[in-house]
Amino acid sequence: MALDRLLKGFADFRLGYYREHLDLFEKLATEGQSPKILIIGCADARVDPGILTQTRPGDIFTVRNIAAMVPPAQIPPDQAQHGTSAAIEFAVRGLDVEHVVILGHALCGGIAALVDGSKSDAAGYDYLSTWISVARNVRDIAVNDLAGRPREEIVRAVEQASVVNSVANLMGFPWLAERVRAGKLVLHAWWFNLKEGQLYAFNSGTATFEPVTGVEVTPTVQQGTKLSAIKPERLLLALANKKPAF
Ligand SMILES: [Zn+2]
Repeated sequence: MALDRLLKGFADFRLGYYREHLDLFEKLATEGQSPKILIIGCADARVDPGILTQTRPGDIFTVRNIAAMVPPAQIPPDQAQHGTSAAIEFAVRGLDVEHVVILGHALCGGIAALVDGSKSDAAGYDYLSTWISVARNVRDIAVNDLAGRPREEIVRAVEQASVVNSVANLMGFPWLAERVRAGKLVLHAWWFNLKEGQLYAFNSGTATFEPVTGVEVTPTVQQGTKLSAIKPERLLLALANKKPAF
């Protein structure tokens, strides 16, 4: 049944969207792709970057993994199979993207597993806990600073801190950092709250996440929505040795 829906969806796409955008598909097929934006998002089925941003084929190069994380650069490169790093490398070195967006989100199961640690259902999986340990440093800060606070508050703090941590890790790739310093590439830390349909962006000046501006949408921000409870100075201090840059 689930697959029937996919095939019906493809039929609709083939007869509708594909036909309506025939010129675009022909151009993409003959000239290749030249997206200006790399989005690194979570594999979570509820947070599709293309749908959230209403982009067209060819607009965004997308990597999705558990919890939208960027692992630290492996220097010198080893022979392990670094899927996310390879995609970042191709987008930056091969496609010359001008923006990299890390797109974290509310109710992230990967971040919850990181917070819950050995109590998580995923604790015994083969690959998951090693992967999410990418954000262990900011998890430790949140768990320590927010001890005694509700779990949801800690998870949210880690969701947001992990996005900033991933931006810091991006700067560990020399060819990427070089482009940022030259002004050819801009990094963005975003967090989407699917409970309220609101997108937040990290403001490096205040070290907090703020609702994005410049879009004409009905305000849906719930008054008093609690953003990252980690004190900004604590977060920035933890990341200082990674030199985050926005
Ligand atoms: Zn997620």
